[in-house]
Amino acid sequence: MKILVINTGSSSLKYQLFEMGAAKPYPLASGLAERIGDSLGILTHKKDPGEATEKKLVKETPLPDHATALRLAMDLMTGSEAGVIKDASEIAAVGHRVVHGGEHFHDSTLITDSVIEAIKHCVPLAPLHNPPNLTGILTAKAIFESTPQVAVFDTAFHQSMAPEVYLYALPYECYADKGVRRYGFHGTSHWYVAKEAAAFLGKPLAEVNLITLHLGNGSSITAVKNGKSMDTSMGLTPLAGVIMGTRCGDIDPAIIFYLARESGLSTDQLDDMLNKKSGFKGICGSNDLRDIHKRADEGDARSKLALDMFAYRNKKYIGSYMAALGRVDAIVFTAGIGENDTQARAATCAGLENMGVVMDPALNASPERGIRRISAEKSPVAVLVAPTNEELEIANQTLAVLKKKG
Ligand code: AMP
Repeated sequence: MKILVINTGSSSLKYQLFEMGAAKPYPLASGLAERIGDSLGILTHKKDPGEATEKKLVKETPLPDHATALRLAMDLMTGSEAGVIKDASEIAAVGHRVVHGGEHFHDSTLITDSVIEAIKHCVPLAPLHNPPNLTGILTAKAIFESTPQVAVFDTAFHQSMAPEVYLYALPYECYADKGVRRYGFHGTSHWYVAKEAAAFLGKPLAEVNLITLHLGNGSSITAVKNGKSMDTSMGLTPLAGVIMGTRCGDIDPAIIFYLARESGLSTDQLDDMLNKKSGFKGICGSNDLRDIHKRADEGDARSKLALDMFAYRNKKYIGSYMAALGRVDAIVFTAGIGENDTQARAATCAGLENMGVVMDPALNASPERGIRRISAEKSPVAVLVAPTNEELEIANQTLAVLKKKG
């Protein structure tokens, strides 16, 4: 059975077609359409991605809208050059990444008209993400007509948080009338690596307590208790929490009023500053950790400061989640930085030895891929690196919804 996964941004469309029938599902094809709406778009398509047989096609052509991009992707997936299926009827279902499901969705769900309405209802909570996600859904519905479509929400995994965890200490009406609360994001990734970690530790998911660190350009840390999200660092929006590529993470909220008064910046300008000009970029001018390490090694003090700030904040989250969880089986690193950056992992865990976290520097530095342990054998809390795969998790959840539908 084949499942197509679609992740739509405002001017981009990512896709992966999975073969789900094998013991381990694998991608038959993947692709990225960029600059949708510009005078010239570009679609990069890969057959057998990551395999020795990989074949890459790059098409530069106007992509006026997402429908044109998806139709071109379908032409490539069914074409003679790098095709993998005969026609669209081979696709059993389409899984869509949807960033914000608010309190409506605790699980992935089959897309119906009322689901589309509920996703629209969440647009004010994710004005940059939900509209393109909706475009992806409507485009796929038009192209695939009767093929089941499933929405997989970034927020759904965190719907298990308790009110004392997700509420802010604001007037209660802010929550009751406007939905202001912690929602959390990256749920698909946190859930995927939590399952991988439980399997690696040889324990049922429902019995593991974990701290999962999704550290990429956007970063979040989640406390997983008995396999469910208990707390997470992002909030109403993905701006809260640890230091990110260009996002500030947690700050004193009064800074916003202070800057508005003192610098005369408008709400939109402050929004732009906090989301796009802060984090690593704001501190040291770059948001790529590879660059930042290189500059720090060359003596750039700001780059070193940004790295120190990042590790310190991560450590504070780990400490607070240890207290919240009571018992932790493993700390799990994932995403671009979490999977690749030996130094960031070492700095984040340094000094936690008395709390039961003892790293093994050689294992941490090992170039081995796949899920692996990087803590010392004697470490009471295991530290793992677990590669994330959000697209595969979306495909798995789409399959689960199909099976439930019967
Ligand atoms: P993601 O958002 O998960 O794709 O992560 C992207 C970020 O991961 C990049 O901005 C880099 O800062 C970081 N990254 C990727 N590869 C490496 C690497 N080999 N070493 C350090 N950081 C990396």
